[in-house]
Amino acid sequence: MELTLEKIISESERIVFFGGAGVSTESGIPDFRSEDGLYRQKYDVSPEVMLSADYFRSHPEKFFAFYKDKMLPLWAKPNTAHLAVAKLEEEGKLLSVVTQNIDGLHQAAGSKRVYELHGSIHRNHCMRCGKAYSAEDILKADGVPRCSCGGIIKPDVVLYGEPLDGETVEGAIESIARADTLIVAGTSLTVYPAAGFVNVFRGKYLVLINRDRTPLDEKCDLVIHGKVGEVLGAAVR
Ligand code: NAD
Repeated sequence: MELTLEKIISESERIVFFGGAGVSTESGIPDFRSEDGLYRQKYDVSPEVMLSADYFRSHPEKFFAFYKDKMLPLWAKPNTAHLAVAKLEEEGKLLSVVTQNIDGLHQAAGSKRVYELHGSIHRNHCMRCGKAYSAEDILKADGVPRCSCGGIIKPDVVLYGEPLDGETVEGAIESIARADTLIVAGTSLTVYPAAGFVNVFRGKYLVLINRDRTPLDEKCDLVIHGKVGEVLGAAVR
C-alpha cells in the first residue's frame, strides 16, 4: 500500500514538527532563500551581515531600520500549516513544534509546546536593566529603541554569531529523539546548528514537505514537494 501523509499521521502518536521560514510564507512573510526571499532583494549590506551580533553592536541605527522594516510582520496571521500543527497537538498526536522561525505564529495558532531555536520577536529586553518590552514597543520606537533607564532594548532573537539558548536546544533535541515521526517542513536546512537537529531522530517515519529540494530528500521515507499549508491542510482535517 502506498505510504501517504494521512497514513503516517494516523499511525503516529509522538509527532514532532520541525519547521523553517517556508511555514510562514503562506502568511505573507517572505523567507530568506526563495526566489522572492529576502536574500534576493538588493541591499548595500547582506541580510546575514545586517542580522549579525557584530552589526547590531557597531550599527544599531541601521540594524533597527532593517529589523523593523523586514523582521517585524506584526500584521501576519497563522496559516493552514500553523493551524493543522496546533490541531495535531490538541488531538494528542504531537509532542512539540521545533521552529527556526521568530514570528510567534505557531503560538498564535494555539500550539503550546514550541521550541523557538532562534528566539522570538515578541520578547525584548533592556540590555542594561532587563525590563521586558513588546514587539509593538520596538516597532513604534523612533530609531534605536531605548528603555526608560536609557539602555538599548534588544530583541530576544538569535543573531548570526550568537549561540542558541541551551535550555531550548536541550528540550528540542530531547523531543526529536522521542518522536516516532518527524515532519520537516519549509526549511532549506542550511542554517546550522539548527539544521543538524534532524539527525537525532530515531523514529519510524521521516517526512519532508518543502517547495524546493533539500539535502534531506534522499533520507526521507516520504518527500512531498509542495506548499506546506496546502499539504498539511489536506492531511489534517
Ligand atoms: P530558508 O529561507 O533558508 O528556506 C525556506 C525554504 O522553505 C525553501 O527551501 C523554500 O523552498 C521553502 N518554502 C518556502 N515557502 C514554502 C511553502 N509555502 N511551502 C513549502 N516550502 C516552502 O529558511 P530557513 O531554512 O528557515 O532558514 C532561514 C532562517 O531565517 C531561519 O533561521 C529563520 O530563523 C529565519 N527567518 C525566519 C522567518 C520567520 O520567522 N517567519 C522569516 C525569514 C527568515
